[in-house]
Amino acid sequence: MKSKYSGISLVLLILLLLVSCLPRSGDKNQDRRMDDPDARAGEMEAWQDTMELKRGLERQSAFEYYVYASAETTPVQSAEGEDAADDPAIWVNRKDPEKSLVLGTNKTRGINVYDLLGNELQKMNIGMVNNIDLREGFQYRENEVVLVAASNRSINAISIMVLDPLSGRLSDTIANLTAGVDEVYGLCCYHQQDPDVYFVFVNGKGGIVEQWKISGIGENGAQASTLRKSEIQGEMVRSFQLSSQPEGMVADDSKGLLYIGLEQEGIIVVSADPGEEVESSMLPGSDGSNPSIYFDIEGLALFSIRGKDYLIASSQGNFSYAIFRLGAQAAYLGSFIIKEALVDGAEETDGLDLALGAFSSRFPEGIFVVQDGFNTDGDMKRNQNFKYVSFSPIRKMIEAMEDAHASGL
Ligand code: CA
Ligand code: CA
Ligand code: CA
Ligand code: CA
Ligand code: CA
Repeated sequence: MKSKYSGISLVLLILLLLVSCLPRSGDKNQDRRMDDPDARAGEMEAWQDTMELKRGLERQSAFEYYVYASAETTPVQSAEGEDAADDPAIWVNRKDPEKSLVLGTNKTRGINVYDLLGNELQKMNIGMVNNIDLREGFQYRENEVVLVAASNRSINAISIMVLDPLSGRLSDTIANLTAGVDEVYGLCCYHQQDPDVYFVFVNGKGGIVEQWKISGIGENGAQASTLRKSEIQGEMVRSFQLSSQPEGMVADDSKGLLYIGLEQEGIIVVSADPGEEVESSMLPGSDGSNPSIYFDIEGLALFSIRGKDYLIASSQGNFSYAIFRLGAQAAYLGSFIIKEALVDGAEETDGLDLALGAFSSRFPEGIFVVQDGFNTDGDMKRNQNFKYVSFSPIRKMIEAMEDAHASGL
């Protein structure tokens, strides 16, 4: 008996000695990180983000035209340093322009609604929503409302909501249209004028674009009884394949055209009419031959001044915005950046939107809204948000660009 116990004690003693001789690490947290692929990937991402920021700022410093943001939104809810805010859409309140709204996506959880001071008014946690767009004058429950559509990656669908123009409240999701694209990504609305039809375009990472016709209940009496559940009808009316990954899209309602940003190729234009052939043409100066464009091409917006049509595009790789004149005299005019002043500058912009009109004393001619990939307050890093820029200095800049272009500079 005695010899057996001493044998066990000896084994225990040897084990203790062995354990005490094992190499000890000075940083247990580091060991844990090395063992956890998620933590390692997170640190790598943070490092790449910093490198992207550094390189982007270097490239950005080449531009001479600049403006400042006059306001910024409440930062989006996300993990620290996460790429979360993505795409804004401006709703113009015709009756009371100062009460216009900005709808912004948070691709980690949903949609936020902001006022023109940047205050968050509403938060809708409807899923991983990437792009958003809207059109007014949509008939729903015998009322005129604002049709709001968003690409929802949680369910690979177009999520449809409506905004009440009287209260300015955004509804819950009233329909989810399951898309046939591989992974919903870019999205825009199109309001065809004649006939009066609303459409949503959605694209996927694999390069397929789907065009959906959207109608409210009661428009078509024969179908109304079968539609009572969703109250919104969506019908896929056209789909086409692009040569590479798209994202940002914008439709010109009055001309029936759809502009599509191919992230690594340039901006193409196709007919937005579902009955038309899909023949695309490249917007001059939007491809890799333009040294001022640094891919990805991201958000797109359209506007007109002095009877001329323009397109503005986010050139994400050099933190700048490119201006194109459209139509018969289509040309790249120049680029500008959003520098730091009272509000920090804008970097690595994904989505953007622009609306003209007299909104407020701060935005007397229009408002340009962009996503900011690196939001800071002083030297504090904050979650991403959206920046608001007055259109007045942009309009003056475009006039200067036109003058320079005309004189061949
Ligand atoms: Ca981003
Ligand atoms: Ca993108
Ligand atoms: Ca994006
Ligand atoms: Ca910033
Ligand atoms: Ca800030």
